[in-house]
Amino acid sequence: MPDRVPPSSDTGRSGKIGWRPYVLLLLLVVACLGSTLLAASIPPPSGTAWFPISILAVGEIAIIGFAIVLGVKRMHLQLETHINTASALRQADTFRQALEASSTGGLRARTNEGRITYVSPAFCRMTGFSSEELIGACFPSIPYWDPKRSESNLEKFNRAMNGEIPSNGLEVSMQRKNGETFDALVIESPFIDAAGQHIGWLGAVIDITEQKRLREQNQRQYERLQATSRLVTMGEMASTMAHELNQPLAAISSYVTGCLNQLNSNQLDVPELKDVQYKIARQAQRAAGIIGRVHSFVRRAEPHFGPNDLNSIVREAIALIEISAIKHEARIICELQRNLPLVSVDTQMIEQVIINLLRNAIDAMSDIAPEKRTIHVSTYLATGGISLAVADQGCGISSEIAAHLFEPFFTTKRQGMGMGLNICRTILELHHGLLAFEPNPSGGTIFTLTLRAIPLHAE
Ligand code: ADP
Repeated sequence: MPDRVPPSSDTGRSGKIGWRPYVLLLLLVVACLGSTLLAASIPPPSGTAWFPISILAVGEIAIIGFAIVLGVKRMHLQLETHINTASALRQADTFRQALEASSTGGLRARTNEGRITYVSPAFCRMTGFSSEELIGACFPSIPYWDPKRSESNLEKFNRAMNGEIPSNGLEVSMQRKNGETFDALVIESPFIDAAGQHIGWLGAVIDITEQKRLREQNQRQYERLQATSRLVTMGEMASTMAHELNQPLAAISSYVTGCLNQLNSNQLDVPELKDVQYKIARQAQRAAGIIGRVHSFVRRAEPHFGPNDLNSIVREAIALIEISAIKHEARIICELQRNLPLVSVDTQMIEQVIINLLRNAIDAMSDIAPEKRTIHVSTYLATGGISLAVADQGCGISSEIAAHLFEPFFTTKRQGMGMGLNICRTILELHHGLLAFEPNPSGGTIFTLTLRAIPLHAE
């Protein structure tokens, strides 16, 4: 590691045995020997026995011995602590090495100036560079930076250096030594030394290329599924669309016949012919409108969020499903609150949700008497934003069905795909909205979607 932090222990901050016990021991020995020598050098007064001096000497030797034992004991304790610390350090080092060797995620440390001070073996494997090639490399010449993305990497590097690091990491593009690029997730954390100094940054680096590829593949599959669901809805609407188109086409045909009759009879009434031409144009526009609505509904496009009036989207969705409702003898009653704030939505997506809810409502009422088949559609200002409620008088939703309602491919219909509500919920989540359902007090079910309103000053 670049700056290994020595462990603190009984042995002092340096990790070595302290000098104090030796000095104490030395002083004691000097004091005792000194006094013994002094006592021995002074001849005892005549008539005095050597006995007391001997006792004194023996006593001093005992004290020295005791001091030596104490010192040795203390040294032994210190040595033991030292050995334990060294062993703990060795263990920690072995553990770190094992961790580094087995880890697939790489580790990289750098100073506050961006100079690399450490790279783990996994990081070297990931990038293809050796630690010798990487250690010492300094911003901005980092060998593993993707040169094609250096600008965005530089911006991310600066953010990281300023400590503006998202807790879930930064996605960067890197390049292996063989020139292959890969996506990596870097989770940076401040590198603090034993003295509490912020000496750099420690980055955990994970190769997320495969994860990203799978994520994008899932996203593409989901988009295709959404498009398929729209096509299924479209298929169901096709026969009724044909019926709807039939009207303007039949009108055009009869207007044209009238014109031809006039032309053939040589009895031209120019003002009348002009009027008929306008009528033909209007009918052609009506037919184009029907086709255009269907086309934009089926078209697979990137979500495009923008300020929109929910009531207009509701009206458009009803226009698309109306013929189907008439065919199933269901009435749609609208109660749309005026002057609602706008919502930031993708029109097509929300239209798809409303059509799905309306279609489910129509299906749910297929077994009740036609005169009771009524769907109430209302919009209103709610606590969480703007809500739209679709209330039917149908069969209702039992608790067993409710438990699986939003699961993909769950359906109770013979021809059902079981993706409608799942897609609706995903679309609402994408819009940070909510989709909920509850029993209708007058029988059936009420589905409610709530979207965040755009604050008035933001319009
Ligand atoms: P699908 O319409 O293809 O079955 P959905 O995901 O839209 O797929 O609906 C799943 C199931 O939820 C339906 O098969 C039906 O059993 C139930 N369901 C949805 N809406 C209603 C409703 N308004 N009333 C009763 N049951 C409903």
